[in-house]
Amino acid sequence: MSEKLLLLSCCAPCSCAVIEKLAQEGRDFAVVFYNPNIRPLQEYQRRLEENKRLCAVYNIPFLALEYDNERWCELTRGLENEPERGKRCDICFYMRLKRVMEYAKAEGYKAVASVLGVSRYKDLDQVNRMAAKAAAETNMTYEQIEGRKGGMQERRQTLIKTLNLYNQSYCGCKPRPEIKND
Ligand code: SF4
Repeated sequence: MSEKLLLLSCCAPCSCAVIEKLAQEGRDFAVVFYNPNIRPLQEYQRRLEENKRLCAVYNIPFLALEYDNERWCELTRGLENEPERGKRCDICFYMRLKRVMEYAKAEGYKAVASVLGVSRYKDLDQVNRMAAKAAAETNMTYEQIEGRKGGMQERRQTLIKTLNLYNQSYCGCKPRPEIKND
């Protein structure tokens, strides 16, 4: 029986080491890009194309779901001034994970994973909490994948350099001009 996994990726820099590891382990998986949080549209498209290029390096199927930024804005209205890791991120993670889990269920995947908590700017517990909520509501398995420890961060930095990956300076909805190379 196929154990097919659907990996939600926010961008190439956060997913590169995880994709490489899963590919090396011979896992049956695909990568999905569902990130209506990313603004502006040109930035969204740039990250999408870079994630597609990365998947081609490892010969991993890549698909993108709709860019429904208007819905994302509606869901996060009133939370514009929340800090990163705050309430807006709760909704953002939950929206993206739930949509991907619904898609995975409809398409016959056995589990969903994500790299939303790989960056050190993210609260991994927050991502896992929102994933558990979405998983309970969709009756889909969420697999927590290690993307930080065990040399994964170091490998990530190496791959960003060797594959010359576009590495943005902000998460998605708000610029972080003071910070580079997360
Ligand atoms: S900071 Fe990132 S995770 Fe948080 S709401 Fe904005 S795009 Fe989503």
